Amino acid sequence: MQEKEKTIILTGDRPTGRLHIGHYVGSLRRRVEIQNGGDFDEMYIMIADVQALTDNAEDPERIRRSILEVALDYLACGLDPNRVHLFVQSQVRELFELFTYYLNLVTLARLERNPTVKSEIRQRDFDLSIPAGFLTYPVSQCADITAFDATIVPVGEDQLPMIEQAQEIVRKFNSVYPGANLVLPKAMLPESGVCQRLPGTDGKAKMSKSLGNCIYLSDDEETVNKQVMTMFTDPNHLRVSDPGETENNPVFTYLQAFCEDAHVAKFWPEYASLAEIEAHYRRGGLGDVKVKRFLAAVLNDVLDPIRKRRQIWAEKPEEVLEILERGSIEASKKAKQTCDRVRNAMRIDYFSTNRLI
Ligand code: ATP
Ligand code: MG
Repeated sequence: MQEKEKTIILTGDRPTGRLHIGHYVGSLRRRVEIQNGGDFDEMYIMIADVQALTDNAEDPERIRRSILEVALDYLACGLDPNRVHLFVQSQVRELFELFTYYLNLVTLARLERNPTVKSEIRQRDFDLSIPAGFLTYPVSQCADITAFDATIVPVGEDQLPMIEQAQEIVRKFNSVYPGANLVLPKAMLPESGVCQRLPGTDGKAKMSKSLGNCIYLSDDEETVNKQVMTMFTDPNHLRVSDPGETENNPVFTYLQAFCEDAHVAKFWPEYASLAEIEAHYRRGGLGDVKVKRFLAAVLNDVLDPIRKRRQIWAEKPEEVLEILERGSIEASKKAKQTCDRVRNAMRIDYFSTNRLI
């Protein structure tokens, strides 16, 4: 049984493409901070290929191609395979066994009410042909979390309904099958609201690989500059002299997520802080192009060390693959222990502890 005071972290990403700056501020930056702070017992970071297949079943090559890309993004951000387990979901089969048992404790109506899944279904034009695997992926996510006895799940805001649903399943499972002792997970959101759900470069509510409105962690300087220049700003800020809105203006949202005082001192010393830049924009007299140039400089400054580390790892793909293989073996060991505990609590271990005769 899990000791109460342990801190076990589980989180992951769908390999539907390279990771973007929304992932970074929403979850990745936090993972690295926790790892480097050392205040945890175990950390599992999962490349959720099976979940990615739930809405990409007919394009498995896209998922396959993205696995190493996501692993490179992890290593580029500073996740250290000697301290955390980086693994691939499909390689840990116990997860699918847990998923099967949990499915029986969730109603179809409850699945259909999940607000994130609802909006993702709308986005994906499934109409009436929603894959059953897609509708049930929050249950699969509950299996991922509980398999590792995770106490904390660092995620962006769109994942809150998933954690809530996982908590419901855990409570129900523990009451139906005493002895399972599934651990109740908690979501860990970024402190700043803008980081909880970073909007896309098109101003849409969420930067998302599936919406194509991303700045990727691996984009080169030129691409970042170009992307920033095409970004949406305040549509009513037509002339430089017009007063502008900094709220719901993605250029300022990104600055709030990334800009530190040191960036102002380095790239725009005419101002003392981001707050001063914002005040000038709101007053009028500050043009979008200048603010965008500053944002591009800030982003490139943050992304530069990430790109450099990525380049180093990209030159040794064999090593990256070995890291994932090793991590998957470790993850399987842990998940197997949970699975044995669950089977025991369900009394379906007919040939061992709870022998049929
Ligand atoms: P997809 O479009 O394939 O669902 P995605 O861009 O939504 O991809 P996920 O792999 O689903 O990315 O999300 C991985 C993690 O990153 C989750 O914890 C999620 O909350 C977080 N995240 C994703 N997008 C953002 C964002 N725009 N702002 C903050 N966090 C985000
Ligand atoms: Mg997503």
